[in-house]
Amino acid sequence: MRRKLIAGNWKMHGLADRLAEAEKLSEAYPDPACEVVLCPPATLISRMWEVLLGGGIRVGAQDCHPAEAGAHTGDISAAMLADAGASHVIVGHSERRADHHETDALIAAKLHAAHGAGLVAILCLGETGAERDAGAARDVVTRQLEAALPAGARAKDTVIAYEPVWAIGSGRTPTPAQIAEVHGTLRAALQRLVPDQADGMRLLYGGSVKPANAAEILAITDVDGALVGGASLDAVDFSAIIAAAEALS
Ligand code: PEP
Repeated sequence: MRRKLIAGNWKMHGLADRLAEAEKLSEAYPDPACEVVLCPPATLISRMWEVLLGGGIRVGAQDCHPAEAGAHTGDISAAMLADAGASHVIVGHSERRADHHETDALIAAKLHAAHGAGLVAILCLGETGAERDAGAARDVVTRQLEAALPAGARAKDTVIAYEPVWAIGSGRTPTPAQIAEVHGTLRAALQRLVPDQADGMRLLYGGSVKPANAAEILAITDVDGALVGGASLDAVDFSAIIAAAEALS
């Protein structure tokens, strides 16, 4: 049985005063029945780690550089994130693919770096609206998975997040049947790529997950959790999504 994972992506939101939201969550969920990770901006990782210390919620990061160290001004290595208290790191988010022109090869290198630093990598995949309209969604996510997933990926160090680009921040979501279809495709691809790990590797859905739709989405076959953007910024909304996952755990 795969343990549900609810991951919050704060994106480029949050100054120190927003740590109060993490504190509220930590108090509400000292020992959550599902796994919960909050990924704040890098500037808040170590302070959030201190806020959450001793509780059941973990801290993650939103990106890492593929190199261990070096002359890369402004970048942060996976080892630095781990040193700051992160246990997870998101790689290949569509906003980074678009804003920073990240290629599948770079994302594969970041995943390798994350594993090298002992972090759990949350690999994001997803089609654009045009790709969905062209009937190419399953081909796109399969190609992205094949390009980034190392042969040695393990269920305990890798999580896949299906995030249709057109659903992120838009308030629109695929139908449950569409989500199930893509997750089924990804599970089948995992069986081929990492046969002994495929059954245990978690597949998250991300894109406009809110308290109102979380229970329905989390109940879909092969949906093992959610990657949540906007609704993770507010402790009340994020708590409702955690509660929906706990009810299914
Ligand atoms: C995300 O950015 O990963 C995301 C899913 O955002 P939102 O929940 O706001 O659509």
